[in-house]
Amino acid sequence: MPQPVFRFAPSPNGHLHLGHALSALLNFDLARAAGGRLLLRMEDIDTARCRPEFEAAIFEDLAWLGISWEQPVRRQSEHFARYRAALAKLDAIRMTFPSFESRAELIHLVGDRDVRERWPRDPDGVPLYPGAARQMKEPDRQARIARGEPYAIRLDIEKAMEWVGPLRWNETGAGPGGERGEIAADPAAWGDVIVGRKETPTSYHLSVVIDDALQGVTHVVRGQDLFWATSVHRVLQALLDLPAPEYHHHRLVLDADGRKLSKSTAATGLRELRAQGVTPADVRRLVNVAL
Ligand code: GLU
Repeated sequence: MPQPVFRFAPSPNGHLHLGHALSALLNFDLARAAGGRLLLRMEDIDTARCRPEFEAAIFEDLAWLGISWEQPVRRQSEHFARYRAALAKLDAIRMTFPSFESRAELIHLVGDRDVRERWPRDPDGVPLYPGAARQMKEPDRQARIARGEPYAIRLDIEKAMEWVGPLRWNETGAGPGGERGEIAADPAAWGDVIVGRKETPTSYHLSVVIDDALQGVTHVVRGQDLFWATSVHRVLQALLDLPAPEYHHHRLVLDADGRKLSKSTAATGLRELRAQGVTPADVRRLVNVAL
């Protein structure tokens, strides 16, 4: 059997908190138990919010936790050409279309539809794409692009689903509703999801599947908040002929009010806890990962 490959893939747009510690420790422990490798990847496609000092702090916090990883660390911001090529491939098989609505226009369109019918939301609570750009005539598209208008590149989800057929993934953790084992992907729940933008030729969904495949990742261990995103990842893998890893979604660390932790809450930040004298063993206890 080939050696298992795990990865921890934070975004360097803030400091790590207890939720990241849980994810990183699980990846580290599972990789070690399986005799596997652990990679670290910086998901820094949002170049406006990601900063080198956050990346340096991530290295420091992980090392403090006792985690070690393989070099080199992959930075997504260094591979835009690779993602652009994948977008071109999706375009060549006519699976994507550009949409030109501004954020305000989208809110307005959804508002209108919400009055008449309750407009559907994706698993993250974001309204599905309500626009009609899929039907736009090719010369109109080309003219708007030539004029320099901003646009998002969307996956035509119905067409994609028809092309790839029903998809599943193997879940060794659990979904938010306790789902485990063979999971049927539900990409329609996401509508015509954004896979790239004019100014950033990729998206979280696109770069994550490309990198997992390129880096030979066999086991994706990440938070339950990304469980249903796996449906989109499976579609992109099928369209781009990429293998599907095994998935293990883990519970989230919640704050005292039962909300998901955010990077801005100092109370659960690893640096803050360290400054208060909390030890790495205490962190393991706090997130309930046995030593
Ligand atoms: N970069 C994502 C995050 O920080 C994790 C992506 C993944 O593990 O697939 O939430």
